[in-house]
Amino acid sequence: MTEIRKIHKVRQSRSTMEGAGVKLKRAFGEDHPKLDPFLLLDDFGSDNPDDYMAGFPFHPHRGIETITYVLEGEVQHKDSMGNEGIISSGDVQWMTAGNGIIHEEMPIRSEGLMWGFQLWANLPAKNKMMNPRYRDVKKEDIPEVEVDGAKVKIICGEVNGIKGPVQDIVTDPEYLDVTINPNSEFVHSIKKGHNVFAYVIQGEGYFDEEKEILLNKENLIIYEDGEEVKISTADSSVRFLLISGKPIKEPVAWYGPIVMNTKEEIRLAFEEYREGTFVKYTG
Ligand code: MN
Repeated sequence: MTEIRKIHKVRQSRSTMEGAGVKLKRAFGEDHPKLDPFLLLDDFGSDNPDDYMAGFPFHPHRGIETITYVLEGEVQHKDSMGNEGIISSGDVQWMTAGNGIIHEEMPIRSEGLMWGFQLWANLPAKNKMMNPRYRDVKKEDIPEVEVDGAKVKIICGEVNGIKGPVQDIVTDPEYLDVTINPNSEFVHSIKKGHNVFAYVIQGEGYFDEEKEILLNKENLIIYEDGEEVKISTADSSVRFLLISGKPIKEPVAWYGPIVMNTKEEIRLAFEEYREGTFVKYTG
């Protein structure tokens, strides 16, 4: 019999400040065995420019990947490799910081709704010092698959034999944007041993077989191990991110935007940043 994953824990995202004074909601932001290899998920949805216009001026990253998915609005990106571009509504930037990048991420729109997500994925020790790389994915390159009663945007991973554009990522992640119609059910296999969570964007749904509580916007659902998730709806639809990956199970030393395995590696990273030797690869 197929083992349906049970809910380990449900949380509500919490308001916090980041960058140069960006007000956002943090779904999680810590090293947790059931979220490994993921470290952080920020939801930057706001229709008040005062909440987001300060943006994220130049800052370093090392040892992780940052995955930015913009639902509404535009984010301008510039970095130490000389890259420059705009992440627009529906686009994804999958950035592997590896041995180090210095970049800025600034909102362009100065009125109306700005909404998106930034996910941080850890890298295993053997990949932390890989050269940085980018996967810039345009909205039109993200396949949308219709399955019984649901539609799924596949950023990374596979649904019904259709693969998303982001491939060959170290932690074998899956990143799906799923919408389930009212009174419908969505079942999806996730490799046993991989960790998985869902984050609700709109509407409400049941995130396990028990169907005891309808979960809604800004709920984070962390799952137990198993083979499949089964998510269903009552009279409303539900839209959520469904994200999974292979846990790294290594020590985590984390300070701000830099995540390594030891305190010594963190100290060295900040020393290099001060001395101007942080960036190892400029393309
Ligand atoms: Mn950043």
